[in-house]
Amino acid sequence: MSAGQSKVFSIPEITLPIAGSGQVFPVRRVYCVGRNYLEHIREFGNDEREPPFFFAKHRDCIVQNGTALRYPSLTSNYQHELELVVAMKSGGENIAKEDALGHVFGYGLGLDMTRRDLQMASRKKEQPWEIGKSFDQSAPCTAIVPAETCGHLSKGKIQLHVNGALKQDGDLAQMIWNVAETIAALSTQVGLAAGDLIFTGTPAGVAACKKGDTLVGRVEGLPELKRSEEHTSEL
Ligand code: MN
Repeated sequence: MSAGQSKVFSIPEITLPIAGSGQVFPVRRVYCVGRNYLEHIREFGNDEREPPFFFAKHRDCIVQNGTALRYPSLTSNYQHELELVVAMKSGGENIAKEDALGHVFGYGLGLDMTRRDLQMASRKKEQPWEIGKSFDQSAPCTAIVPAETCGHLSKGKIQLHVNGALKQDGDLAQMIWNVAETIAALSTQVGLAAGDLIFTGTPAGVAACKKGDTLVGRVEGLPELKRSEEHTSEL
């Protein structure tokens, strides 16, 4: 905008709380890694030798932990993917693996909610995945914990319980590309910057959610991610 111009309207800024502070983390872009845990690759029968790849969600797909979630339109196979989320404080292009963690502000825990039937139909037609991945409320995320508090996370259980039953059970150490390698690889494709979030892929055990399901995600050192049943209703 040049001097003298004013906006015709305002749109909300997308932010996440920073754990233990009154500050917020402004979200710029949201990237996701596809196929970063071997057991999850196997559960879909995909090629284990192919490197992981990236896709994006619109930043307003982010929803705050505990926000009311509606069952989305157009799908009868609405699946959960619990993922470690990396929050960037700076970025650049072609970031060296050795420098990558220096660009990380902190970590959160997120759900890459997926309309699996639409994703699969798109794949079959060689169309973009967007309708299956980047839809309203498709990226619930916890508060961001600064790395100076939780350290850089490279191992430890990542678990999702659905209605009290353990459904996704992995370890961050099982990531094919660790956080530093993921940042380095993504930065060869796009310039990264402060405010970017990277959902780092999901362990095995993805499955369809029903209306009313209670989902609880846990990684040690991060806030519990909860989508409770009273928050779930039909779109
Ligand atoms: Mn995912």
